[in-house]
Amino acid sequence: MSEPSIFTRIRTGEIPSEIIAETENAFAIRDIAPKAPVHLLVIPKTEQYRNVVELAAGDPDLLSEVVGLANSLAAEHADGDFRLVFNTGPNAGQTIFHVHAHVLAGGLEEASLG
Ligand code: 5GP
Repeated sequence: MSEPSIFTRIRTGEIPSEIIAETENAFAIRDIAPKAPVHLLVIPKTEQYRNVVELAAGDPDLLSEVVGLANSLAAEHADGDFRLVFNTGPNAGQTIFHVHAHVLAGGLEEASLG
């Protein structure tokens, strides 16, 4: 069996990081290297899905739960507007292969994607 992911090790307390919110099947932490005034990660508790494509195919309800938690967090930590990013594959910047959503918010008006 492979090693648990960094995010599983955070969830189980092996690596210290505050769990800022939780639903039945997902949890949220602050990104250690924030790229926006608000930069949170929403992560399914299971690590069986490596990326959002696998998650959407395998458990669309869980993907919906992740989006719902992101929405609640954006309302709590910013003005409710947010950008949701799922880096998918190493060439797109994915470094942790336990699917997670980046929730970016606060002062993004000037930021462009390109
Ligand atoms: P990815 O590059 O896979 O889309 O996103 C991984 C994210 O996890 C990065 O933005 C990185 O800063 C964040 N990260 C990596 N290690 C840790 C950690 O130990 N604690 C927290 N809170 N975030 C981490």
